[in-house]
Amino acid sequence: MIIDCHGHYTTSPRQHEAWRTEQIAAHKEGRAAPARPAISDDEIRDSIVNGQLKLQQERGTDLTIFSPRAAGMGHHLGDASTSEAWATACNELIHRVCTQFPRNFIGVCMLPQSAGVSPRNCIAELERCVTQYGFVGCNLNPDPSGGYWKDPPLGDRYWYPLYEKMVELDVPAMIHVSAACNPAWHTTGSHYLSGDTAGFMQCLTSDLFKNFPKLKFIIPHGGGAVPYHWGRFRGIAQDMKLPPLQELLLNNIFFDTCVYHLPGQELLAKVIPAENILFASEMIGAVRGIDPESGHHYDDTKRYIEQLPFTPEQKAKVYEGNVRRVYGRLSAQLSKQMG
Ligand SMILES: [Zn+2]
Repeated sequence: MIIDCHGHYTTSPRQHEAWRTEQIAAHKEGRAAPARPAISDDEIRDSIVNGQLKLQQERGTDLTIFSPRAAGMGHHLGDASTSEAWATACNELIHRVCTQFPRNFIGVCMLPQSAGVSPRNCIAELERCVTQYGFVGCNLNPDPSGGYWKDPPLGDRYWYPLYEKMVELDVPAMIHVSAACNPAWHTTGSHYLSGDTAGFMQCLTSDLFKNFPKLKFIIPHGGGAVPYHWGRFRGIAQDMKLPPLQELLLNNIFFDTCVYHLPGQELLAKVIPAENILFASEMIGAVRGIDPESGHHYDDTKRYIEQLPFTPEQKAKVYEGNVRRVYGRLSAQLSKQMG
């Protein structure tokens, strides 16, 4: 089985995101948000059948761990109440996709974060999505301010109430920023990759995993700059008299394969143990074009994985085993959804 652990609902029916625009406009003007729009099952089906499902079938993958559009989370917009209403709407839509396509999609929720608001606020929505919808993880934004980094680092006790709930529910978080509202950042080009790198470094300099040995994070986009600069991170840890990174972080941190060229994938596989790599493509997402050098979509990451010098056992781990291990609820939920 080939499980893609990183997919977003980037093709949701138009009225869904249109409502978000109205909601934020109403908030700015001090009005109540309009009622949420009706979205039919047929509209959801069309958006998936002609989008992510079509690509799953064309590329030969089986299941996508599916979450709301990441850039659309917009935790820097509105306030705690608008974030809550938006997260509820987005997660409900993911649940409807997973209900219609139980063999192809398993849900992961976005959290109702807001800059400067305690992550404690996210616990109820996380619990609702896991216990009522059967979701198997969450996306955690390390920078709800959208490019200004106003909240404490991930190792800070500020985040602990959320981590306690994640461990209790046995769900991992993908450390995933949203859109940048700081013009110095390009959302998917620099803010995403910096968010990945910053998230990793915040874990390195904290005692987070000593306090939460069962907490699991997925660093997306191949880990940002992490594999490329692994020597720097090892050296910093050494200078700080910390244990080797393998021992310090690799029981808890995993990297996905959303890297859009073969040399990058080769480096990831060379530096990071196969046990810590999870297959992912993030399709349909940040890069939608075809690479003229290969003639294939940049985000068709399975093509690169097939060219890596993994043993069959390692490849099976990357495609399936590691994903099932990191997303502790996935196997049971999948059996349930497969009927
Ligand atoms: Zn993503």
